[in-house]
Amino acid sequence: MREGSIFGVIVIGVGSMGSAACYYLAASGAKVLGIEQFDIPNDKGSHAGQSRIIRKAYFEHPDYVPLLQRAYENWKHLEAISGEQVYFKSGLLYAGPKDHSIMTGVRIASETYGIRIDVTNPSACAASNPHLAIPSDYDCLFEPDAGFVTPEKSIRLYADKAIESGAEIITGTKVEYWKDKGGLFEVFTTAGVFFAEKLVITSGPWTTQVLPALSVPLKVTRQVLAWVMPASRTCFAG
Ligand SMILES: Cc1cc2nc3c(=O)[nH]c(=O)nc-3n(C[C@H](O)[C@H](O)[C@H](O)COP(=O)(O)OP(=O)(O)OC[C@H]3O[C@@H](n4cnc5c(N)ncnc54)[C@H](O)[C@@H]3O)c2cc1C
Repeated sequence: MREGSIFGVIVIGVGSMGSAACYYLAASGAKVLGIEQFDIPNDKGSHAGQSRIIRKAYFEHPDYVPLLQRAYENWKHLEAISGEQVYFKSGLLYAGPKDHSIMTGVRIASETYGIRIDVTNPSACAASNPHLAIPSDYDCLFEPDAGFVTPEKSIRLYADKAIESGAEIITGTKVEYWKDKGGLFEVFTTAGVFFAEKLVITSGPWTTQVLPALSVPLKVTRQVLAWVMPASRTCFAG
């Protein structure tokens, strides 16, 4: 990579969003440079790990649903161009008090966008899921078209496909700061200075460092995870 090169777009951070941005931009003909401070993927970004839930009946707000529908199409596209499976359909069971905001949110999203949700009950759930103890007064909703996506594998595939489509991607290189020179962005990195007509900032939890003048307050919070070894693995077998 020659220092001082000029690109159409520089993508800062090649994680979940940045790897896909590099691919779609390069595939559309843009001259792309992706810059990643660690490896692709890495264990420090939000994407670390082997699975992320994907679902359409978004209880957070129905406005997310069209984005989710688009995401499903894009995962299918990634599978088609790579020949690899990244989406695994498992279905998703929601169980909780009927008037809980998660349960009502799932219902609203599914009714607004016609997403299939099977209404079931705790005893039927217990029959098909003997490993779960669901209180008898709980509401049970099952979303068949939900499952999980493999984040690290997907990022690697998007980065590979971006490079095949003409993008350049450098790793182990941190963007320290950038300047808008009026029509051209000057990007200062640990591997030298690069120029771009446009910047895409997909730096995830580091965004306040890359965009210090951002007016929206962003706070990175620690996500604590725990794994439990089931007494009987057969209940969880696919
Ligand atoms: C524990 C946990 C569980 C989650 N579960 C789910 C789930 O089940 N379903 C779901 O949909 N979502 C889930 N999420 C959220 C999802 O993983 C994130 O929304 C997504 O990974 C964010 O992608 P991103 O591209 O914004 O950030 P990241 O994937 O973190 O990518 C940012 C990249 O930018 C790089 N970078 C940052 N600053 C610089 C710099 N200055 N120079 C160069 N490179 C830089 C970083 O190294 C990193 O690789 C979960 C998140 C966590 C943490």
